[in-house]
Amino acid sequence: MRASVDKELCIGCGVCEAECPEVFRIADDGLAEAIEGELTEEVLEKAQEAKEQCPVEAITIE
Ligand code: SF4
Repeated sequence: MRASVDKELCIGCGVCEAECPEVFRIADDGLAEAIEGELTEEVLEKAQEAKEQCPVEAITIE
């Protein structure tokens, strides 16, 4: 499973970073980005939680 952020939708609210900083961070452009590569079992659940809390549904995990 990999996480990605649609920067067209992201409003930079920071919820995903607060929920799961292992996977998401606010980049220099003020919008979120996800780490590259496969998510480990340890972070997957938190990443899913962050996805659910994103107010604009900008996060995809697949
Ligand atoms: S929670 Fe959603 S809108 Fe907020 S920073 Fe993360 S991806 Fe962007």
